[in-house]
Amino acid sequence: TTEVIKNAKNNEDKIGAFITINEEQAIAEAKKVDEKGIDSDNLLSGIPVALKDNLLTKDILTTAGSKMLYNFKPIIDATVVKKLSDLGTISIGKTNMDEFAMGGSTETSAMKITKNPWNLTKVPGGSSGGSAAAVAAGDVLAALGSDTGGSIRQPAAFNGIVGMKPTYGRVSRWGLIAFASSFDQVGPLTKNVYDNALLLNAISGHDEHDMTSSDQKVPDFTKNIKSGVKGMKIGLPKEYLGEGIDEDVKQAILKAADVYRELGAEVEEVSLPHNKYGVAAYYIIAPSEASSNLQRFDGIRYGYRAKDAKNLEELYVKSRSEGFGDEVKRRIMLGTYSLSAGSYDAYFKKAAEIRTLIINDFKKVFNDYDLIMTPTTPTPAFGIGEENDDPLTMYMNDALTIPANMAGIPGMSVPAGFSKDGMPIGMQLLARHFDEESIYKAGYAFE
Ligand code: GLN
Repeated sequence: TTEVIKNAKNNEDKIGAFITINEEQAIAEAKKVDEKGIDSDNLLSGIPVALKDNLLTKDILTTAGSKMLYNFKPIIDATVVKKLSDLGTISIGKTNMDEFAMGGSTETSAMKITKNPWNLTKVPGGSSGGSAAAVAAGDVLAALGSDTGGSIRQPAAFNGIVGMKPTYGRVSRWGLIAFASSFDQVGPLTKNVYDNALLLNAISGHDEHDMTSSDQKVPDFTKNIKSGVKGMKIGLPKEYLGEGIDEDVKQAILKAADVYRELGAEVEEVSLPHNKYGVAAYYIIAPSEASSNLQRFDGIRYGYRAKDAKNLEELYVKSRSEGFGDEVKRRIMLGTYSLSAGSYDAYFKKAAEIRTLIINDFKKVFNDYDLIMTPTTPTPAFGIGEENDDPLTMYMNDALTIPANMAGIPGMSVPAGFSKDGMPIGMQLLARHFDEESIYKAGYAFE
């Protein structure tokens, strides 16, 4: 653990993946594991991990990338954090992220910029950019992220690693700082598919603290992982390889389709006609839920409190004006507007209807196919500062990942080659609700 922390600290100057490195607590945890002795049946004991900074960690700074929580030390661990530490993993730190997970480049963080380990002029993606960079840089073997509209899969793609957004309800959200509660899921980022399955084994399952967590049985995701894709039917949606998709990305996915055919799967073109409305609907629903979730940050209960307020109203206004960054304010305004009496029918209700159409698109394809394969992102990682002041371009990066959150289905990004300028490309695999097993099988076979 001491060596792991030394290495992470060295990388920190270059990459900036962490907001906090909790050396003392990590060493204390490692000592506990040492005392117990390594359990050879538990592959996770003693393994160094990192946690996105929107997961509550007892007595360890948890900022969600926001000035609003610059001094917040929770009194509890999130369920997923507790599950990992019960298995003897050692969390060495909390990773940088877009403020309250709103963003796709980790540039909206109030704390620092994180760089892509493959090319330090590029973004690591986001919002779980710190988690992805920490794994890609070799700081840790695994990290947890959260995915509301692609925030695990997109940074995994940009960093050439594996990132899984489980089925909505598979993993407890208790202790995850809420962004958009009907989309948010916690999931693992790892170097390879097998490790990812191990981590998902560790964090899955019903939690009485989260009423949306499912009581579906959790299979051992590693059990059938090596059984291959022979006979599997995989759909390749034509809308995901059309306009706006980078040529290198497109070629990588077509090549991956050929690999699956050679491995004995049937790959055929399918259609998800309403997915193209996903971004528009997501940027109504997610900000609406966020505007409600973020009401609790009022300068009184947690974190940042403005000085010299003359009355209660001013205390709220000043604390929120000073504590939140631009992107968060933009979302709060979008959300409160969409939910307001005069515009609810035109915006929120319409978006909810689109959500149903997207769910039905997937249902139809999954009647005949086991999996859907797509690019994870339209382009490989872009340059730092390139898209930061252009929200719309930034939002379009999520076009291919958002539909899975809309429908609540599982999705994973696996490395699928490189662009001409040497940046990693990700392939996204999607499956029916609670069928992460098929995704892992196909991901393992491809790797
Ligand atoms: N980039 C998307 C957004 O800004 C997704 C974020 C996420 O999944 N947390 O909302």
